[in-house]
Amino acid sequence: MSLPQAQTLNDSDGRYLREAIALADMARERGNRPFGSLIVAADGRVLARASNANGESGDCTAHAELSAIRLASPLHSRDELTRATLYSSAEPCVMCAGAIFWSAIGRVVYGIDAERLRVFRGERLDQKDAELSCRDVFQAASHAIECIGPALIEEASSSHQGAWKV
Ligand SMILES: [Zn+2]
Repeated sequence: MSLPQAQTLNDSDGRYLREAIALADMARERGNRPFGSLIVAADGRVLARASNANGESGDCTAHAELSAIRLASPLHSRDELTRATLYSSAEPCVMCAGAIFWSAIGRVVYGIDAERLRVFRGERLDQKDAELSCRDVFQAASHAIECIGPALIEEASSSHQGAWKV
């Protein structure tokens, strides 16, 4: 099976996705898995930024996307979130895809895809992800969720170089 093709981003999507990748690198520097996410309103205001915090908190659900949604959701209307974009340094896992669905966020842009990420995760059983694409979750949703990715694959991959070694 061939790997998913990189998608081309416009300037603002590229800028925000690079910021998500920078948040992933910050997570790694603090001893966490290298993932970052931000949520941006339709008018360009950043509603939330978050990094993975599994290592620091011991909370297995402390994924960047889920944490960003927990920050933004109580403060912003469903209508505003519908028109917002969630940027993630990597393809959202099935848990985060579910949270994106519940948040009503209408658009997702991600960096490295889950298939390429598995090469970094290796074959360690404790690092295996549920092999269900975020697109499968979004397609089952009762509202439209636009999904763009993978994108900036090389930049998004660089956060993971050597980060998953035992
Ligand atoms: Zn996740």
